Amino acid sequence: MRWSLVQASVLLVVAGCRELGEVVGEGARLWTTTANITLDGKKQVSLPVRGDEDSLLVTLEVPPPNLVHVRSLSDADGEVVFDYRRWSRAQLNLTNAGFPARVVSLGWPIVADDPGLHWGDWTLEIGLVDADLRFTDGDVQVSALLTDDDDRESGTLSVAFVYTDGLELDDDFVQGVQAAVRVFREVYQAQGIEVRTTVLSHTGQQLAPPVREVEPAYVGIAANTPFDTVHVVFSEIVQGGFAGIAGDSPGPLIPTTRSAVQIGAWLAMGVDGVFSDREVAVLGETIAHEVSHYLGLFHPVELDWVTFDALPDTPACDDAASCLAQVGSNLMYPLITCVDDGCPPQNELTPDQRAVLQRYAGVRETK
Ligand SMILES: [Zn+2]
Repeated sequence: MRWSLVQASVLLVVAGCRELGEVVGEGARLWTTTANITLDGKKQVSLPVRGDEDSLLVTLEVPPPNLVHVRSLSDADGEVVFDYRRWSRAQLNLTNAGFPARVVSLGWPIVADDPGLHWGDWTLEIGLVDADLRFTDGDVQVSALLTDDDDRESGTLSVAFVYTDGLELDDDFVQGVQAAVRVFREVYQAQGIEVRTTVLSHTGQQLAPPVREVEPAYVGIAANTPFDTVHVVFSEIVQGGFAGIAGDSPGPLIPTTRSAVQIGAWLAMGVDGVFSDREVAVLGETIAHEVSHYLGLFHPVELDWVTFDALPDTPACDDAASCLAQVGSNLMYPLITCVDDGCPPQNELTPDQRAVLQRYAGVRETK
């Protein structure tokens, strides 16, 4: 199936009232404002939440060279539910929202125990810094996507696969991708998430990664799909030699320079340029791994073996051997663990990891 222009224009004409933003789809509202920040570099923004909304995804954007971050989120009763200081000092990864960047996003709720959204004016505290991380003044574009879906056990995720560098003309690559997407679907099906796919192609120069670089092409790609789409872009290579890289964790659903997962085709096909069964399986798991970063998951353990995700049910381990033994079969393990006689499956997720995926604003009620 190919994305059609008709779908997008229907979404654009359904406009809501100004105060509550724009209705961007059934059970989905996009609220935007520009926060003008003065010299002390901080500002509180009031964010209207309505009673039937279950998931929030805030995205903040600033022009270079400034950087922005989320300092806190408070509920309608003034209770602080997210404070970046708690997470920036611990060696536990929960979200990238607290780390200054040109584009950052915060999803809420994140984990199963987080207090849910409820009606009222929530408060977002924003911090703006310059390239030397000194507080500064300037405008911050604030976008908040709010979606209805109180079913945390099942849902649907829309994914657009975008071929670049002419890869859509390589039949062997396209067939390998189709087989890998079946692996990705099975991994997500096991977590109660049905993946719906569309296929697009993009012409132009080689794309920079959606993180650390500023690649405007991702804005254009994301602007041409329905609002709840995650974009998986196939390029010949990912700069830096990665198998794949996610734009952020969580990643934004509005069009930004980080609104993509990028996957490297040449690395996926191996030195012979032809997919083996094992390479197809690894590509499928790589897509699932990177999309799961985009939906908010971190590695259960980082390669320093001392930094962990914040989820209680992912094992703690303290060196390469014990981590491989305890969590090597997890989808979010940071290394592909192939050995001479094959690649053991890396497709497991814990209940806490599943809970994070189910809470992402782009995982919608199945209809
Ligand atoms: Zn990873």
